[in-house]
Amino acid sequence: MLRLSIPNVGEEAIEAVARVIRSGHLVHGPESEAFEAELAAYLNCREAILVSSGTAALHLALVALGIGPGDAVLVPDFTFPATANVVRLVGATPVLVDVEPDTYCIDLQKLQNTIETWRGPQPLRAIMPVHEFGYPVDMTALMTLADKHGLMVVEDAACALGASHQGRKVGTFGQVGCFSFHPRKTLTTGEGGVLTTNDTTLAERLRRQRNHGMVRTPAGMQFFEAGYNYRLTNFQAAMGRTQLPHLDDWISRRRQLANAYRSLLAPLVDAGRLALPADHAEHSWQTFMVVLADDIDRTELIRLMKEEGWECNLGAQSLASLGLYTEPDATSALRCGPRLFKHGLALPFCEQYTADQAEFVVNSLTKSIGK
Ligand SMILES: *Cc1c(COP(=O)(O)O)cnc(C)c1O
Repeated sequence: MLRLSIPNVGEEAIEAVARVIRSGHLVHGPESEAFEAELAAYLNCREAILVSSGTAALHLALVALGIGPGDAVLVPDFTFPATANVVRLVGATPVLVDVEPDTYCIDLQKLQNTIETWRGPQPLRAIMPVHEFGYPVDMTALMTLADKHGLMVVEDAACALGASHQGRKVGTFGQVGCFSFHPRKTLTTGEGGVLTTNDTTLAERLRRQRNHGMVRTPAGMQFFEAGYNYRLTNFQAAMGRTQLPHLDDWISRRRQLANAYRSLLAPLVDAGRLALPADHAEHSWQTFMVVLADDIDRTELIRLMKEEGWECNLGAQSLASLGLYTEPDATSALRCGPRLFKHGLALPFCEQYTADQAEFVVNSLTKSIGK
């Protein structure tokens, strides 16, 4: 079975983890500190704060920025639900904004309209752009809009480690950036995540909040506030450290595979059977999702392709379609997100896969939906 993706965990990572486990130093430790420094250098930002998941990163970002009950936060409709869940968990209200049909990212025109026509009652406090599947949102335009309206920006770069906007890594534009190391992402530590910021005061707060609200001083442990235990383990950090030097190479292999898919799928695009994701030179290609024609039964297709020996699945959720975050009438202006949720199809995709495997997938797909 050709899986949707497989984590790229080599002997080097396994040995590093074993070495740290043998050392007995299991919670936050020297490997965590070194990984934080290496991530900050890779991303070219001042501070990197490791946490136990991408969702923990998103949650802690909102807590540390003081977003809470009575606040409203702008979130794209098409994403993994964690983006909106954390807004709910701090007691704030997610305000859904539609996405673009081909980048799958927040539509900046609709974002601007939503901000300019907002009548409350909750004050808008922040925007959480999602660099969906590694596609870099135009952060120059987004930051201009945010600054103009006095909004904070928390970048959900959970699936976009390595993507850039105009040469600068995504996740370093807003007040805080959040990344995930879940096995579906390009670099994985099992569970895991990291927060990035250039604000050293905010970083101090994030580190404290990650560790029970506590700081170690020469006088001993001092507790400043109620905090979480959102630490990443020392052995997970060791695992991540072995992968980071390979990341850029992995992303360029993914770009090649995306290009192979694009040319192989061209006949199906011409025949109106599916649409391709937008290309971008600084895309980090975490997932390759196409959008099927309306008449194709996706559930049936997924079942048939499994019989053919390969795995495919939906790409991400439309938060409006889930009905957990907003009243139905508040989402009537959303068009693209629900359609991507219903007709999006993620194909087998990771740096270990070859153009031959892409050809096998596309041949099989063409037999089924070709016409
Ligand atoms: C993966 C992902 C998350 C959640 O990350 P976890 O590490 O699984 O908690 C959040 N947002 C987006 C956009 C993601 O892709």
